[in-house]
Amino acid sequence: MKNNPRVDIYLDKIVNNTKEIIKKCAKKEIEVIGITKGCSADVRVAKAMIKGGIKTLGDSRIENIKKLKESGIKSKMMLIRIPMPSEIKQLIEYVDISINSELSTLKIISNLAQKTGIEHEIILMIDMGDLREGIMPEETVNTVRKIKQLPHIKLMGIGANFCCVSGVMPTMENLGKLVMLAKEIEEKEKIHIEIISGGSTSVLKLIEDDKIPQNINQLRIGVGILLGQDDVRLRNLKGTYQDTFILTAEIVELKLKPSLPIGTIGRDAFGQIPVFKDLGLRKRAILAIGKQDIHLNSLIPLKKGIEIIAASSDHLLVDVTDFNGNIKIGDEIKFKLNYPALLAATTSKYVKRYYHREEKK
Ligand SMILES: *Cc1c(COP(=O)(O)O)cnc(C)c1O
Repeated sequence: MKNNPRVDIYLDKIVNNTKEIIKKCAKKEIEVIGITKGCSADVRVAKAMIKGGIKTLGDSRIENIKKLKESGIKSKMMLIRIPMPSEIKQLIEYVDISINSELSTLKIISNLAQKTGIEHEIILMIDMGDLREGIMPEETVNTVRKIKQLPHIKLMGIGANFCCVSGVMPTMENLGKLVMLAKEIEEKEKIHIEIISGGSTSVLKLIEDDKIPQNINQLRIGVGILLGQDDVRLRNLKGTYQDTFILTAEIVELKLKPSLPIGTIGRDAFGQIPVFKDLGLRKRAILAIGKQDIHLNSLIPLKKGIEIIAASSDHLLVDVTDFNGNIKIGDEIKFKLNYPALLAATTSKYVKRYYHREEKK
């Protein structure tokens, strides 16, 4: 018997998703960076991405990149969060290429890289409107001029990010502007901009619609590979699987209870004031998993007739009244995961992982 709660990971489906996305991007000569942060850089998932054709892996945490390298993976590794000044030593040791936007940090990188005799590769991030990371576009040439003076920094290209904190969508226009900036750098600063990194999964739609500027030659894809979803458009990607990670939790209590709480309503364990509808007596199950391990709104029960009611740190309540079948204590309830739930479930040390159909090498 397997231990619960758990995530079952279908590696062959991840290989398939990787191949599909690489195929789509190859038509426009775009390289895909396989982003592993959504599954806490699970080593076997990273290997599945490599098997699907990924050459460079990316993650937001150096610990994850370190883990991947120490597992024996030889791929190039990209850090996709602006590095902390306090982690530059590890950055140089484990990361092959990083995204950056702060000159003061780049100076530290250059200084420390000098000691090891290497040149650290970077992608300069430009803020195209989502207002997360990046220098403002009008600062580009000026910043590049200063980066050129840092002897141990190798400016490989520029990049942008969309749909992250403000929900700004990538378009022909804002990506076109990024391409124009690359041209401007090349003309004014006389250096070759090898990489134009256009964003994440949300950009795939532009490829499908043939609305991607020609010179975009790199995308950093996480959720598209991991879950086969373009999550900002709430659509599934053609040719991909969504049931790549399945969460299972076990029933520890099963009782008929009224749907309206009894007593005066104050705040719940997370400071919210909950509201409930009176649906009469309902059959409720408690699953032994909670907010430490999941994200409530991004769990999708696999079977019909199971509805999520609420969760506290260690308990997930589901309504099973409409479930057509036998159900008892110790039974397992399975869920598909959307991105926030995948992130939580693979970060939680309480959720075990089981791997399926990995081909032996
Ligand atoms: C998370 C992230 C990605 C990947 O985004 P997905 O939507 O999962 O494809 C790409 N680039 C950066 C900088 C990120 O932080």
